[in-house]
Amino acid sequence: MPLLVMKFGGTSVADLARIKNAAKKVQREVERGYDVIVIVSAMSGETNRLVGYVEGTSKLYDAREYDAVVASGENVTAGLMALRLQEMGIPARSWQGWQVPIQTTAQHGSARFVDIPRANIDAKFAEGFKVAVVAGFQGLSPEGRITTLGRGGSDTTAVAFAAAFGAERCDIYTDVDGVYTTDPRVSSKARKLDKIAFEEMLELASLGAKVLQTRSVELAMRYKVRLRVLSSFEDTDETSGTLVCDEEEIMESKVVSGVAFSREEAKITLFTIEDRPGVASAIFGPLADAGVNVDMIVQNISEKDYDDAHPGAVTDMTFSCPINQVDRAKKAMEDAKAAGKIKYDELIIDTDVAKVSVVGIGMRSHTGVAARMFEALSKENVNIKVISTSEIKISVLIDRKYMELAVQALHDVFELDKA
Ligand code: ADP
Ligand code: ASP
Ligand code: MG
Repeated sequence: MPLLVMKFGGTSVADLARIKNAAKKVQREVERGYDVIVIVSAMSGETNRLVGYVEGTSKLYDAREYDAVVASGENVTAGLMALRLQEMGIPARSWQGWQVPIQTTAQHGSARFVDIPRANIDAKFAEGFKVAVVAGFQGLSPEGRITTLGRGGSDTTAVAFAAAFGAERCDIYTDVDGVYTTDPRVSSKARKLDKIAFEEMLELASLGAKVLQTRSVELAMRYKVRLRVLSSFEDTDETSGTLVCDEEEIMESKVVSGVAFSREEAKITLFTIEDRPGVASAIFGPLADAGVNVDMIVQNISEKDYDDAHPGAVTDMTFSCPINQVDRAKKAMEDAKAAGKIKYDELIIDTDVAKVSVVGIGMRSHTGVAARMFEALSKENVNIKVISTSEIKISVLIDRKYMELAVQALHDVFELDKA
């Protein structure tokens, strides 16, 4: 029997009426002859509420208990979806992660898949069940504890199931009708893409476009899962939405295909550090040990002997990290300074920054993208604080208040509203 994976995000299962609406989409696929694995998120807002309970109880919480609490939102929607399907006469049952059992690493809060054994679910399909409703976002550690996969993790559950069960396609139903050139909530000129290459989607997701969790795109790319993003609120068919696929399947692509942004950034500068071999390692080693995800890095050119108190060459180091890791980063630097491993005069934290990025595989073969990007930002008087590039993306860190303006300007200059 051909099999489909259908994933419904939080807004698509936000109440009983929406669960019913989603169930109708499942029913249509069952009527077409598919066995279906449905992956559900928690009702919209529910995961945030649960995280709030944990943080309200314990500031430095035990991550295992965080996962036990936060994974529970998906259990509710999985049961409700199975009940709704049964009401419609479709043989269905729900599965919590441990019942499958979905095996993950023990990294609580950001666990990764290790294995999804098929036997239990396959046995139910063989008995005549048509739908397995699986709670997204959760799994089981080697110690037998409940784990979660990081925010947005149900996307990754969906792709992992599609890979494990050899699904014909993995359909991600959400509150937008596909992947756009930028977040349609920020730019009214955003244009829906019919297709996007895995690599571009991977960059967009990791640079802040939360329409898909980054890890889900990685898995889809590795296991060649046909991944589609489409609306749960509109009538859809096999041609709806956006297909995330191999580059070769896309006839012609633009130099820049999308603009992504992230508000959750912070910039940290260490002033007057020594400029000698080993200093970068003395700074970024402790940051890594403290679990800080450093993103962009700039080091100023060296100043020589600038005053009597600072003999030898000195410089400044700036880096960015997620805003919720600032306290950890600060402590790691202060501890390293106290232990005599690094020296600096001042540590300055700027939490009013945002990262804006342009992404496109066309950048591999076209020059001048950075120049156009910087010119467009300068015309809007947006000051660039930090820059980083890769083969297919350019990112800048700017004041957060200019983020929307910068996204619009870049969308315009690269003519992303035009096909
Ligand atoms: P779900 O609850 O279904 O998982 P999410 O809120 O996680 O949905 O992801 C969908 C949201 O992603 C959209 O509502 C949209 O605001 C946002 N988004 C950001 N960038 C993009 C983009 N390039 N294309 C489409 N949506 C985007
Ligand atoms: N409910 C989880 C979250 O809000 C997982 C998901 O929706 O993908 O992050
Ligand atoms: Mg999501």
